[in-house]
Amino acid sequence: PASVIRRPIRELPDELISQIAAGEVVERPASVVRELVDNALDAGATQITVRLLAGGVRLIAVEDDGSGIARDELAIALRRHATSKIASLHELETVATMGFRGEALAAIASVSELALLSRPPEQPSAFLLDARSGELRPAARGVGTTVEVKELFFSTPARRKFLKSDATELAHCIEAVRRHALARPDVGFAIWHEGKLVEQWRATWTPGAPPSPDALERRLADVLGSDFVTQSVAVHHQAGRVTVTGRAGLPDAARARGDQQYGYVNGRFVRDKVLTHAARSAYEDVLHGQKQPIYALYVEIDPARVDVNVHPTKIEVRFRDSREVHQAVRHAIEDALAAPRAALLARQGA
Ligand code: ADP
Ligand code: MG
Repeated sequence: PASVIRRPIRELPDELISQIAAGEVVERPASVVRELVDNALDAGATQITVRLLAGGVRLIAVEDDGSGIARDELAIALRRHATSKIASLHELETVATMGFRGEALAAIASVSELALLSRPPEQPSAFLLDARSGELRPAARGVGTTVEVKELFFSTPARRKFLKSDATELAHCIEAVRRHALARPDVGFAIWHEGKLVEQWRATWTPGAPPSPDALERRLADVLGSDFVTQSVAVHHQAGRVTVTGRAGLPDAARARGDQQYGYVNGRFVRDKVLTHAARSAYEDVLHGQKQPIYALYVEIDPARVDVNVHPTKIEVRFRDSREVHQAVRHAIEDALAAPRAALLARQGA
């Protein structure tokens, strides 16, 4: 190994560790939006407003009316592996919040100019912490939190070069909020871009009140269009420990692209092979060729039976018993489709 120069082994500086970690969590503005909206939901927000400039590259600000962060905890919130959501391995195994790794704010702060502005209900005024300078000062704000992320990837030009046009980045940001909105009809969402309101989805039921049966339908119609609802049937299925609800598209609603396939596990949007495959197989007999079914499916399962700590962005999960989930999803869709199919066959026979 004559050509290798041996260098001493050293621990990386903190800032560089965060920047490396950020590579896993923060790929583009939409990743930041996803993490910040996760945090707002974990804080119990009922209204979340996302403001963007230049597709999120110049500014992403996420405002919520959640529980806030105390003045003395603002700096801790920005540290790596600092979280209020779990404190033990046991809690990790049954985690019910969207976050728990305590990585997002630290990662985002290492590749942007981040400011945290927050006021918990018991604090008479809000405080603002500038991550870069460490400056902490009083500021004006009602109860809740605003996280402001400016100039994403300003210090990592290699990353910045991978970003697409503002319009494309904006579309990804909107999609990130859409995924959350479909899981939380009890929360209102608004997205502003360059000072213009581009999307607004009002809460379709009051938190605390019993959810109205059509709350999800109304949210689906608001977010995906009324066609999604008229061209789908309600899914409701329980098999042992797994519950599957939502809506499954009629075969005629299938599209060339699989862009209206929303799968959730315990309220978390996931890209999961088990789910996708189960859905696909439910449509086996009714869909031919390359067409993709549309659906929004919500799988509820004992948190101890699913591992969400597989991927830094938690977009993948691992089920303890994937057969159980596969069958539940497949049967849920098949049952939902059976009723209109029977009606159609009866009509064709007549
Ligand atoms: P995680 O969400 O995994 O805990 P984050 O880095 O995303 O890690 O956030 C760190 C901590 O900061 C959270 O555990 C939470 O206590 C606090 N926090 C972040 N965003 C908010 C928010 N919008 N409202 C209230 N607290 C927040
Ligand atoms: Mg988080």
